[in-house]
Amino acid sequence: MGESKKLFSVDDALRFNRKELREAYKNFVNPSWATLYALLDMDVNFVKAEGGRVWDEDGNEYLDFVGGFGSLNLGHNHPAVIEALHKVESAPVMLQASLAKFAAVLAHNLAQITPGELQNCWFCSSGTEANEGALKLARIYTGKKDFIYCQGGFHGKTMGSLSVTGRKKYQEPFEPLVPGCIPVPYGDAEALEKALKEHDAAAFIVEPILGEGGIILPPEGYFKEVRRLCSSYNTLLILDEIQTGFGRTGTLFACEYEGIVPDVLVLAKSLGGGIVPIGAYITTAPIMKKAYGGSMDRGLMLTSTFGGNTHSAAAAIAAVEVVVRDNLARQAAEKGAYFLNKLQALKEKYDIIKEIRGRGLLIGMELSDSGGLLDFLTAGSVNKLSREFLSSMIAAEMLQKYRILVVFTLNNPNVIRLEPPLNVSYEQLDHVVDAFDKLFSRHKSFLKMAVQSGKNIVSSFLRKS
Ligand code: PLP
Repeated sequence: MGESKKLFSVDDALRFNRKELREAYKNFVNPSWATLYALLDMDVNFVKAEGGRVWDEDGNEYLDFVGGFGSLNLGHNHPAVIEALHKVESAPVMLQASLAKFAAVLAHNLAQITPGELQNCWFCSSGTEANEGALKLARIYTGKKDFIYCQGGFHGKTMGSLSVTGRKKYQEPFEPLVPGCIPVPYGDAEALEKALKEHDAAAFIVEPILGEGGIILPPEGYFKEVRRLCSSYNTLLILDEIQTGFGRTGTLFACEYEGIVPDVLVLAKSLGGGIVPIGAYITTAPIMKKAYGGSMDRGLMLTSTFGGNTHSAAAAIAAVEVVVRDNLARQAAEKGAYFLNKLQALKEKYDIIKEIRGRGLLIGMELSDSGGLLDFLTAGSVNKLSREFLSSMIAAEMLQKYRILVVFTLNNPNVIRLEPPLNVSYEQLDHVVDAFDKLFSRHKSFLKMAVQSGKNIVSSFLRKS
């Protein structure tokens, strides 16, 4: 290393101010993100987090309703998860020469709380990796090649998961993707049956509620039909509960809502208690045995260096314990119903809200398609790009004026997602509803300003990134 080069320490990082953070992120991580966040004035330097609250470098307190996109069902820095990490601090974190004890215990516990006969786990470090594993499991188990997936669905951004993620914008720059991936409309069992007839598919991969697709709920009975169809065509049903799992939608797992059991249940996000990265799938013993049992060679296909390491597994054991002990699913059901009701009342008041929808504490606020309202306000001068930034600007306003963190969904930027920790208080829910009320009560002037700054932001973003 040359003498002019300098390495920062953790203490240096702790001392970084907003400007230093912005510069380092822009130069060494992702310039486009840094530029966009700076333009929206959203690159706040957060220094402390606890439960549903975070604090910036000046000591200002914010409410976090992004909830790590479903990773913070327990809130930030839950003491039980931190305590678990302390308890294992002198244990070997990884010892590939032997069996991973904490992974075995975690897998045992997951088998107890997941529905049906789901029993055998494979552990990795992220949601997308867990979906990769599930897709490969389906191929090796069935001997078939094709995958059916949903338009608007989101399963991650590595090559396999991206191939079954239903948004062209994310897929096209990386083509050719995995061949044999067939999109079908979400919530349409007839379309699924047609695809199953035409393609001998290894798996149908689907979310119980489209998360990144804009918090879209399927029609009642859809999943019962999906379950029946997948069984009759010998196609594995892979249910991606990465975002909906661990109580988020008012039941421990969203599949319980229709009483169905998938062949493969995929988990990540809140499995790590909001602190450690961990992904997993759980499947039945016969599926695991046929897929990877019987020989050393088969078993060796199932590795991931950090998968199920002591820290991630111990944190997950503690996280699962808290989810069950505190009945976070029931909390999500009750508080979600309360919050949804209050947000529905706002919708009646303001045209800018097109729809409020969700289940439990997975809630989406879809903004009116600006083709109507925004074009009216701006004499038709709104372009598609600035429209996509409308919800970002609402998020920016919520952050700066009301100190509340919200963001839009990835596949549907017109939808603001509301995913607070499941132990959020009723007062915090009221506070967020009040803030939206205040923001929208002056929506005409805000929207005019938003559209203008949207255009400025978009053009300067395109120039700078
Ligand atoms: N699947 C779903 C349903 C998700 O919501 C996400 C992330 O938002 C993923 C997969 C990808 O998870 P990760 O970002 O951990 O790879």
